[in-house]
Amino acid sequence: MTKLNIQSTSITEAQKLLNDGHITSVELTEQCLSKIESHDGMLGAFLSVDRDDALSQARASDERRRNGKTRGPLDGIPLGLKDNFLHQNQPCSAGSKLLEGYISPYDGGAVRHLREAGAVLFGRMNCDEFAMGSSNEKSAYKPCANPWNLKHVPGGSSGGSAAGVAAGMCFGSLGTDTGGSIRQPASLCGVVGLKPTYGRVSRFGVVAFASSLDQVGPFANDVESCATIFDAISGHDARDSTSAKLESATTLAGLKSGVKGLKIGLPKEFFPESGVDEEVASIVKSAAKTLEDRGAELVDVSLPHTDYAVATYYVLATAEAASNLARYDGVRYGPRLAESEGLEPMYRKTRGTLFGDEVKRRILLGNYVLSAGYADQYYVQAQKVRRKIYDDFMKAFEECDLILGPTSPTPAFKFGEKSTNPLEMYLSDIFTISTNLAGTCGLSVPGGLTKEGLPVGVQMLGKPFDESTILKAAYALEQALNLDTCSF
Ligand code: GLN
Repeated sequence: MTKLNIQSTSITEAQKLLNDGHITSVELTEQCLSKIESHDGMLGAFLSVDRDDALSQARASDERRRNGKTRGPLDGIPLGLKDNFLHQNQPCSAGSKLLEGYISPYDGGAVRHLREAGAVLFGRMNCDEFAMGSSNEKSAYKPCANPWNLKHVPGGSSGGSAAGVAAGMCFGSLGTDTGGSIRQPASLCGVVGLKPTYGRVSRFGVVAFASSLDQVGPFANDVESCATIFDAISGHDARDSTSAKLESATTLAGLKSGVKGLKIGLPKEFFPESGVDEEVASIVKSAAKTLEDRGAELVDVSLPHTDYAVATYYVLATAEAASNLARYDGVRYGPRLAESEGLEPMYRKTRGTLFGDEVKRRILLGNYVLSAGYADQYYVQAQKVRRKIYDDFMKAFEECDLILGPTSPTPAFKFGEKSTNPLEMYLSDIFTISTNLAGTCGLSVPGGLTKEGLPVGVQMLGKPFDESTILKAAYALEQALNLDTCSF
């Protein structure tokens, strides 16, 4: 059997090894499982792993291959899922005690696509409770560390999905991005993470946080693998009323066509005098230069409402969260406390005890901004600013094909560094949040390491439904830089 370094093996390469008979899906899956068994005690990327279920999916894939019925590039490839994806007959808790023991009754939209593509889906990956956070420290179960340096956080909220991929525990994973939760952990863990355009991937069967901002997307160690997963999960789903009426994406086709003639916009607001770590700024600028050397043209653009994005987001996202999380009342989902004391005490006790502090803070904030007398000042006002942020992007995209900047203002921070100051934590999404407000697409691709050896991601933002262009530019950068993957 071929022993692989999973971190540095792309899905395409693994598929070739499978097709050429050098390895079986069962062996690939065993390698992922044994990496988890030996290393995840230190890392904490997975909340649970169903070994038997994974191996039975792998055996089914091997059987298809023997019979000449392989389903395509993901058949037999082990992938992980953030703990907010419904995955039939498996637990799904969204990192919360409130959903402890909840078993998914069906597969969500993206999960179903992956299953149909033959992927081996195993394990629930750690995340901040209800996807609220930027460090994974708000998981109600356990922390997840950064595989590049265990004293540092992996980012969040999809911290487990990023860390597990960086550590070679699976070939890719799914996460969700409401304000940066795919791109920021991808940046901090040195992997590729894509937030598709709002509506491009079905949200059906994903635990909702803020429904007008949530979007599903992939993580992988390289751009081609990320594009492979994206193509598989994208496409219209009638069960998600906001799903765009488009066929599956075909970004793999033009992935390697280079950046010659591509106009790359550098927004001045993403390169401020202060507020961005110096090493981050220098790595991001040199990435832009690398693409220029490969034939792209750099142009100055502006996103003038960037400074308002975080405030706007924390009004709209909390309002939607307060509404979405109202359903967790101890009646239909998860554990029920103080049942014998009557309905009202049961609601209070269940929600009061089982929601974590950050979730409660958001529910309170959300109800406040929606309350009579305040809704005009906050909620309605934020909707207006949201429109201006969208207009900024559309104007900038008249001048360029994509926008480039830092994903996160800093590399991975240490545990505890921001966890007591919510505002500081919120500011770690300053460069990612506006994309969600505009509904456009964005990705983070590794740009280099700091002197301390922590990864720094480069963010590329695209026009609506133009994931192809940002993936193509990310591929060109990846090929030019040829960086090492994590050696954890
Ligand atoms: N960190 C942001 C928050 O806490 C974004 C989260 C996300 O994208 N799910 O809300």
